[in-house]
Amino acid sequence: MKDLNEIKLTTTQRKIKEAFNFESVEDVLTNYPIRYDCYEALPYSEWKIGETLRFEAITLGKSRSFGYGKKTIVHFEVMVEGQVIDVIIFNRPWAKTLPGQHVITIFGKYNGHNKFTAINYDLKAMKDHKPFEPIYRNKADFQQRSIHAFMEKVLSECLLEQEDTMPATFIDKYRLLSRTQALQSIHTPPNKRALNQAIRRLKYEEFLRFFAHLYLKNEDTYCEEKQKKNIKNDYIQSLIHQIPFVLTKDQGKVLKEMIQDMKSTKKMNRLIQGDVGSGKTVVAGISLFACVSSGYQAALLAPTEILARQHFESLQALFPKEKKKMMLLYSGLNASKKENILNDLKEGNIQIVIGTHSLLQSGVHFQNLGLVIVDEQQRFGVQQREFLKAQSDGVDFAVMSATPIPRTLASSLLGGMDVSTIQSMPKGRKAPITKRIEENSFRSVLKDIQSLLDKGHQLYVICAAVNKNENGFKVRNVYDTQKNLAKLFPNYQVGMIHGQMKSQEKEKVMQEFYDNQTQILVSTTVVEVGMNCVNATGMIIYDSDRFGLSTLHQLRGRIQRGNNQGYCWLLSDSHDELTIERLEVLVKSYDGFYISEEDLRLRGPGDILGLRQSGLPSFILGNLIEDTAFIDQAKLDAKSILDHPETQENQTFINSLLKERLKHGYS
Ligand code: ADP
Ligand code: MG
Repeated sequence: MKDLNEIKLTTTQRKIKEAFNFESVEDVLTNYPIRYDCYEALPYSEWKIGETLRFEAITLGKSRSFGYGKKTIVHFEVMVEGQVIDVIIFNRPWAKTLPGQHVITIFGKYNGHNKFTAINYDLKAMKDHKPFEPIYRNKADFQQRSIHAFMEKVLSECLLEQEDTMPATFIDKYRLLSRTQALQSIHTPPNKRALNQAIRRLKYEEFLRFFAHLYLKNEDTYCEEKQKKNIKNDYIQSLIHQIPFVLTKDQGKVLKEMIQDMKSTKKMNRLIQGDVGSGKTVVAGISLFACVSSGYQAALLAPTEILARQHFESLQALFPKEKKKMMLLYSGLNASKKENILNDLKEGNIQIVIGTHSLLQSGVHFQNLGLVIVDEQQRFGVQQREFLKAQSDGVDFAVMSATPIPRTLASSLLGGMDVSTIQSMPKGRKAPITKRIEENSFRSVLKDIQSLLDKGHQLYVICAAVNKNENGFKVRNVYDTQKNLAKLFPNYQVGMIHGQMKSQEKEKVMQEFYDNQTQILVSTTVVEVGMNCVNATGMIIYDSDRFGLSTLHQLRGRIQRGNNQGYCWLLSDSHDELTIERLEVLVKSYDGFYISEEDLRLRGPGDILGLRQSGLPSFILGNLIEDTAFIDQAKLDAKSILDHPETQENQTFINSLLKERLKHGYS
């Protein structure tokens, strides 16, 4: 097959190739049009009021105009199927001089009563246009004409040699177009029907590949059998009585599911999903103690050291009687203390260890590990499967995630995992009031912020960059923001924290904020996980359009820690419709499930599921929320292909998946 570099391009075409970042022929072929201008004629009798349409007519040479220069309105008359249509067009003064008796094609909106508002027109017959003119996204100020020429060049040289690895069984079964036909039709559709067929074929293929990759990845499941754990109900009750609040119904339900798993001979392999603040930690805690009571060791792993420490401290406070059973392992420990802990773990003298994810990968040995709970916090990575395989036999495993996985994806993404959901929030919890501010500045809410501080509450200020000019020069950065705020609020102390700081420094800054020595904390998303400051009730997020919805939702979870009403201000000067729609999701909803589904719908799966790093293919046409029928079918078909690798056609398809993996460098 041809390499993109072998194709002779003009200077402009080379510029297009660069601007669009096209590296392979495949990149070009899958640069599908974002929309089409339709040049199919609609008979006059079928015009509906308010509809956008295109028609061919004859000019009558009669016109009137109002205004002048850039602000003109021109009326002119045309004849279509014996009807005189009064056309109005804005800001095209030259339309006044349209000659009579000329063929014209007009595009715009029908207002009823033979009145039409034109958006544009040209003096060509309908048949001299392609029936569907593709419009491509534009990465710079290229003319559509030039982009078309580039696309046509690549299509004409490469389309015919496209390989079709889709098993013929499915092509026949669903009467799909061949890959070549589909690509041809999506770029230059001869009519609406061909376009729909092309989209259908290409969309189905995206889903089929996605799920086949996923199943291929999850194929090697591990041994399911283990020894039952002997856990006494009385002991669980005594643990529940120690905590200073009543468990919510969902916490109780999930806890029961975990205990049942441990008591059974089947290994626990469970995802616990619950929104920020739903109270996952306490459920994890009781499960850890329950495991220990049956004579095993247990481990709780967090993504960062700060978070591990926080889990440790929360559990110490919640279960005063069990304090001695827990140990915190962190990198700042001196060598001899660390060695003691590792030794005690090996000998079975320590029952519960709390640390970071790296804990089990760094040559730590347990005497008899019975339960591992991983706190993933903001996203559910696909990685921990690898991690799981490295465990000793008989270990129950659970992962906690605050990003709920949309229902359409849960079963296939999680392989054989069971899912527990904590949906209800503890009583008295108030969702933060979220406002979208249409500039990247908080001056319009300065008063609110001042009064929040004057009430003795604290404030987070989130930036998308640490240093100047990082992520684009207009993006607010931590350093400058800290300086500016210190000037603006001379009566308050302003702290600063970001991921590039040493962990000891970070700990110190956080401690100062907890202790209310600083009242304003300027930060990157490092506070997304790990801050639990009850007195902080305000959050300003600069450049909020730069973050994913799930991340923003996590961030504002920081100001929902106590019973005070929190306020979150999302600042952004973006006028992009999609961006505004995304941010509005947060203004309207505090439902983590809904938010992650919207994130998925609007941004695709990459960010939310941590899939980007895992290299799974992404979707161009497919939509994981809307295309449920495609998804269900593609899942079944992907499975059947992988179940029957012996047939030639399935083998060809699987080989193409493996090639893709190799190419993108993931295993
Ligand atoms: P997350 O699910 O985000 O990890 P946490 O476990 O950190 O949530 O819990 C958030 C806060 O809610 C903690 O301060 C915790 O002690 C408190 N909490 C948990 N469960 C309850 C409950 N049933 N009633 C009242 N407060 C609770
Ligand atoms: Mg948590």
